[in-house]
Amino acid sequence: MAKTKIVPLNIGTGSKQAYQPIQCEVMRSKRKTLALYIKQQKVVVRCPWAASNAEVDEFIENNQDWIQERLREEQLIEQETLRIEKGAKIFYRARELTIVFKEGRKERILINGDKFIIQGHKLNAAKAKIQVEDYLIDKASEYIIPRAKGLANYLGVDHKITEIKLRKTKSKWGHCTSQGIIQYNWLIMLAPYSIIDYMITHEVCHMIHMDHSRRFWNLVGSICADYEHYIDWLKTHEHRFWFD
Ligand SMILES: [Zn+2]
Repeated sequence: MAKTKIVPLNIGTGSKQAYQPIQCEVMRSKRKTLALYIKQQKVVVRCPWAASNAEVDEFIENNQDWIQERLREEQLIEQETLRIEKGAKIFYRARELTIVFKEGRKERILINGDKFIIQGHKLNAAKAKIQVEDYLIDKASEYIIPRAKGLANYLGVDHKITEIKLRKTKSKWGHCTSQGIIQYNWLIMLAPYSIIDYMITHEVCHMIHMDHSRRFWNLVGSICADYEHYIDWLKTHEHRFWFD
């Protein structure tokens, strides 16, 4: 009796690659449609109570390309996340530098060639992290605050600003309130100056237009002509600046 030879469909058809089998969690609920989520390299399918396993399989099959791309993207973001450790990479002013720990009495940070040197006494990752934080906070208060005030003065809105705060947040670069409080995330000091200037401009312009209307963007563009490019740049690279 001849044996049936089973050939997986997605091998040898040319256009489709041979995918790795995916492990995924199926969560059933009262919902009406199927949806895919990816978090920490785990694939979750949310589907209605009545969805059959075949339907779920087909849904996964049809979304293979999307799943693989998201998994790769998530992995890259994870790899590029900043860790203040000896030998790690830091994306500083749009250049990739290597973190070097250097023994020395005086605490300081030096940029030399492709090295981001953290100098301190008996350094470890925790101490180095605090040093980098202090360095960026200092840089931010030296750079961001006077420039924001100068721009506000130029635009004639300095009287509207009550306070400029520097904070580290996980999701925002800048923020402002109708009470005239402007807040900047000092992690932005890792970015190139053009990007920092764009962020300064963005929040100060809100002192004139408290929205994201055309008039607001026209004003931003009159000070920072390439702002659209800077927004894109931030979207692409910002995950490299956030560290815990
Ligand atoms: Zn805004």
